[in-house]
Amino acid sequence: MQAGEKAVVTITGIAAGGDGVGRIDGMVVFVPGTCRGETAEIVVEYVKSGCGYGRVLRLLETAPCRRADFCTATKECGGCQLAHMAYSEQLSVKRQIVADAIERIGGFTDIEVRQTLAAPCPERYRNKMVFPLGTDKKGQPVGGFYAAGSHRVIPLSDCRQGDVAASAWLSETVSFLRENNISVYNEESRRGVARRLFVRLAEKTREAMVVLTVNADSLRQKEAWVERLLSVKTDYKLTSVMLNIHKEANNLLLGNTNKLLFGREYIEDVLGGFSFRISPHSFYQINRAQTEALYQTALDLAELSGGETVLDLYCGIGTISLFAARHAGRVIGVEVVPQAIENAKENAERNGVLNAEFLLGKAEEIAPELKKENPAVVFLDPPRKGADKKALEAILTMAPEKIVYISCNPATLARDLKFLCGEGYRLKTLIPVDMFPNTSHVESVALLTLSN
Ligand code: SAH
Repeated sequence: MQAGEKAVVTITGIAAGGDGVGRIDGMVVFVPGTCRGETAEIVVEYVKSGCGYGRVLRLLETAPCRRADFCTATKECGGCQLAHMAYSEQLSVKRQIVADAIERIGGFTDIEVRQTLAAPCPERYRNKMVFPLGTDKKGQPVGGFYAAGSHRVIPLSDCRQGDVAASAWLSETVSFLRENNISVYNEESRRGVARRLFVRLAEKTREAMVVLTVNADSLRQKEAWVERLLSVKTDYKLTSVMLNIHKEANNLLLGNTNKLLFGREYIEDVLGGFSFRISPHSFYQINRAQTEALYQTALDLAELSGGETVLDLYCGIGTISLFAARHAGRVIGVEVVPQAIENAKENAERNGVLNAEFLLGKAEEIAPELKKENPAVVFLDPPRKGADKKALEAILTMAPEKIVYISCNPATLARDLKFLCGEGYRLKTLIPVDMFPNTSHVESVALLTLSN
């Protein structure tokens, strides 16, 4: 297979990133924007590590599950890798992605991966939007999304994954930057002021937070910007506006310091009957409605008896901890982000939860000290890179009866389950949960029990 080669391929599966998978003379070729069962004429764009990467020239046979892309920017933006598939097919594909990882990376051959739990709302579900700011050809500010695989900003007037309120504040901010000649940050020269617009919405309480990250210590026109945001009519109430000071040349979404311009430093949302305070730096699941289903699934698998000690590693603002505290003797949450731990402590206190405590630090450093607590159940919900080996080893020394692993990355989940199952645990249940409709991302919940 060579770059520039044209071929006819049939798509037999979907890879973890959402690309269709076909073969040319036995060699794998990845083709974005295709569905299982489709035949397409493609051109190979490049070949890397023995695999081809192709682009559709013409669809010769389309699958019944194909639907019109729901956004005009889908191809350029690359954020919604499965948007061309009917929702039922997306769910089936996600189950396949999880099953493939668990078999190929985890080496499990006898696990039945359950049906993917469908999201209550398959669009406009994102409660957090981070819009990069850039410039157009004339040097004027624009805001939207990075083009797939690059840092070129595609201007977007609306993203159907997020609420219209987020798009409205983006448009208003971009107009404001233009009218006030406020420069946009340039990653190469490291000059310019405005970097990103961060919007977070509390779907239940209808509170909203808007944060502008700036490569400066302040913004001269800050009061006028706040006025402009407040003038936008939306279904949300703006209760928090901040500047985030971000002068480093890294890709982190936020710098360390926030400066409050209006309202409070957090917003409050309600999840499972609990009220949660959320700061810009704290992790909060982006699909609120489906998060309740995710946590309920995790709790159902844990079958807590009411008296046991539960560990919640990578606890964020303590959401799973509080859900579990209702059914357990005691819960200990561990989290590395200081603002999140502060939120978690406040959240427990404000909701009258007395049997949850929170420890600040890395799971891999704190967990080894918690053996003496003798937890019967460990929940863990690490970031995409999975759990640190030291954290998993610490769990093994605690030998809890059950481990409930919540994961947003099937590959690292499979790796970690393989390790735990090589050390005496059995994988009992594995449920994919669709937290991110239209994208190729998939969450999973796994239950492991001690095998003896
Ligand atoms: N369970 C929470 C958060 C899950 S996201 C929820 O459902 O909302 C993963 C969390 O792990 C984030 O809050 C992140 O800040 C935290 N984290 C990342 N690396 C960590 C580490 N080494 N130790 C502890 N927490 C970590």
